[in-house]
Amino acid sequence: RSGYCAATGSFRSKRAAVPLPVDRDVDVVTFLASRRHSGVVALIDAATGRRTTFGELWRAVAGAATALASAPFSLRKGHVALILSPNSVHFPVAALAAMSLGAVVTTANPLNTAAEIAKQVADARPVLAFTTRELLPKLPRDHPLRVVLLESAAGDPLPADPRIAATIEEISATPPDPARRRGDRVTQDDQATLLYSSGTTGPSKGVVSTHRNLISMVQIVMTRFRLEESDSTETFLCTVPMFHVYGLVAFATGLLGCGATIVVLSKFELPEMLRCINAYGVTYLPLVPPILVAMVAHPKPLPLGQLRKVLSGGAPLSKELIEGFKEKYPQVEILQGYGLTESTAIGASTDSAEESRQYGTAGLLSPNTEAKIVDPETAEALPVNRTGELWIKGPYVMKGYFKNTEATKATVTPEGWLKTGDLCYIDEDGYLFVVDRLKELIKYKGYQVPPAELEALLLTHPEITDAAVIPFPDKEVGQFPMAYIVRKNGSNLSAHEVMEFVAKQVAPYKKVRKVAFVTDIPKNASGKILRKDLIKLATSKL
Ligand code: AMP
Repeated sequence: RSGYCAATGSFRSKRAAVPLPVDRDVDVVTFLASRRHSGVVALIDAATGRRTTFGELWRAVAGAATALASAPFSLRKGHVALILSPNSVHFPVAALAAMSLGAVVTTANPLNTAAEIAKQVADARPVLAFTTRELLPKLPRDHPLRVVLLESAAGDPLPADPRIAATIEEISATPPDPARRRGDRVTQDDQATLLYSSGTTGPSKGVVSTHRNLISMVQIVMTRFRLEESDSTETFLCTVPMFHVYGLVAFATGLLGCGATIVVLSKFELPEMLRCINAYGVTYLPLVPPILVAMVAHPKPLPLGQLRKVLSGGAPLSKELIEGFKEKYPQVEILQGYGLTESTAIGASTDSAEESRQYGTAGLLSPNTEAKIVDPETAEALPVNRTGELWIKGPYVMKGYFKNTEATKATVTPEGWLKTGDLCYIDEDGYLFVVDRLKELIKYKGYQVPPAELEALLLTHPEITDAAVIPFPDKEVGQFPMAYIVRKNGSNLSAHEVMEFVAKQVAPYKKVRKVAFVTDIPKNASGKILRKDLIKLATSKL
């Protein structure tokens, strides 16, 4: 019943396996576009109500790819294209057009500072950037790239910036040329995306995911919606960011294979979300826990129209929150998904009310998935109901970290097991429960905050001799960064000054929001910060 096999020490998914294309010469875009839903509305721009059918979408993707393959872009297989944009109906067009040429898509959080974006650009070395005119100043000046603005052709005059070559709507209107790849063969094993994640330790690293990784995730998303026989009739609201694996896999790839309609919200705000749910007859809402918190905290039940399902992912969801939501919104089913950037999203999920009745579970393992629960101390594989680090194996596990064999080796075993850094157990029915995070990662409203980045920054302060950053639990946002600081002898540095110092240099979601001063940072013999001790110290009074 649990899927556990004592001989191998691993759990097998209880869900039926999904087939993957045998032909290696299939890229994710060809795979998605081969499912025909021409007359169906694919995308709705929440702000304007403008609709794009699947026929129009695939024509725009093919047109944009044709233009990008030609001068002045000459985008080729292996080139990197950066998307720096809030959610928009243009985002999937840009991502899919680039991927269809074999180019690699890297995305950045628009909240990041220019310095943070410059770091990513220096690592990924894009030749092309898709961005908006508001975000244009955040692109580093010293890195040569061409820019496509993600906006309508008939907007205001384009800003005077020699890097701007066109708008997405201009290039999408190019007559598609089927021979646009100019001899570049794109196979399932080629790289498709380069999303940034800090993984189990250290700063952000590029996660190399292939077309096969994405295709396998599209297949999983499609079976989730039981689309073997017909198209989805759901209308989704896209509130989660498309720059994150959650939004990218759901809204810029996976769901586009389902024939579902996606209403795209550029920025999350509760009143606008409610307006869209009601105006567009939204039935399905994927979100992150802080949105659920806001919905439950509202004094009266919010009007949710035809909404029947919410899917929570990206961070843990407490039993208390699930119960609070069920009480307030009994007509809405609450589902969960668990995954990570390194697994190209969903490693486990609940697919029905029946399954989510197991309160607190992240669900059953995804199709085509094997899992191990490993004792972090002894590396022994543990059986049913025992807690240890979750390792997963499946066709969606990343190829590795970009230009970082050491981090890859530490994260993916030679047999293909991805060490998730999450402390979990699997029960006698095969349900996965996420208990805690072994890895140092902090998640603020579902956004990744790597403590190592903040520690490195704190150590540049002339009055700080040592620093450690840990997650501090918070009901509204999940966790926020707290810093333990060792001051230089004689320094009177205040907590406020420390917070200001960091706030000036990082994106708002990475801000240190609590500070404590200590005489030394607890470390093990090899100099590793003993974060668990600090977390215990910080939370002992709660
Ligand atoms: P990211 O790479 O940004 O998607 O972050 C992945 C991490 O988010 C996982 O390793 C977990 O620690 C956490 N996470 C994602 N989904 C869930 C979930 N449903 N329950 C608990 N933690 C989750």
